[in-house]
Amino acid sequence: MPGGAQVSTKWPQHSMDRPQPTVVDPGPYRPSGPPPSDAVVLFDGRSLDAWQSSDNRPGPAKWIVRDGYVEVAPKTGSLVTKQAFGDVQLHLEFRTPVPAKGESQERGNSGVFLMGMYEVQVLDSYHNITYADGHAGAIYGQFPPLMNASRPPGEWQTYDIVFHRPRFDEEGKVTRPARMTVIHNGVLIQDNVELSGPTANKSRPPYVKHADALPLALQDHGDPVRFRNIWIRKLE
Ligand code: MG
Repeated sequence: MPGGAQVSTKWPQHSMDRPQPTVVDPGPYRPSGPPPSDAVVLFDGRSLDAWQSSDNRPGPAKWIVRDGYVEVAPKTGSLVTKQAFGDVQLHLEFRTPVPAKGESQERGNSGVFLMGMYEVQVLDSYHNITYADGHAGAIYGQFPPLMNASRPPGEWQTYDIVFHRPRFDEEGKVTRPARMTVIHNGVLIQDNVELSGPTANKSRPPYVKHADALPLALQDHGDPVRFRNIWIRKLE
């Protein structure tokens, strides 16, 4: 399979001069419907049994479950799945807080971390200026979303993500980088991009050989972002 887009060398990471992604109206929220029969349901609106608190503070998941969604409980740490995953198709819904508070990265920030280290940014990007590679749907610090397909804060939004993990040889050399495709509210925003390594703030660290399957994580960035209808399909 031919490789996807590479990280641009034209713009420094987090450059505010890089053009903002073009805004597209994705239309109103449409319910996602039930998960496919072969999906692993990670959150069904009631139980956090599939999750635990992040590795630095392992223990029961501390986020708040209420009315069919789970809300980040700020400063309790990220959530990680008990199960580990490699290549996957992931579906989830998220909703950023109302009233919107803060600016740029301090507004409705969370994140979906494939294998705990490759972040698809969650942010309130509705009428919010931030660096292009930090917007909602960015592969954080690497790829801005192709479009800004955000709905206003308080409305439910969807991510559909296809992720292929990196492959390593015996010596730990990358034989195939991780790849990601992301659809935001029905709009393609990442088209089979090739990650340069794990995502990070103010750096682009190189790959370090890791396991073929690792937990999925949702980020506690201090904002009460909500999630629901989370399911995943294993592709290998
Ligand atoms: Mg984030």
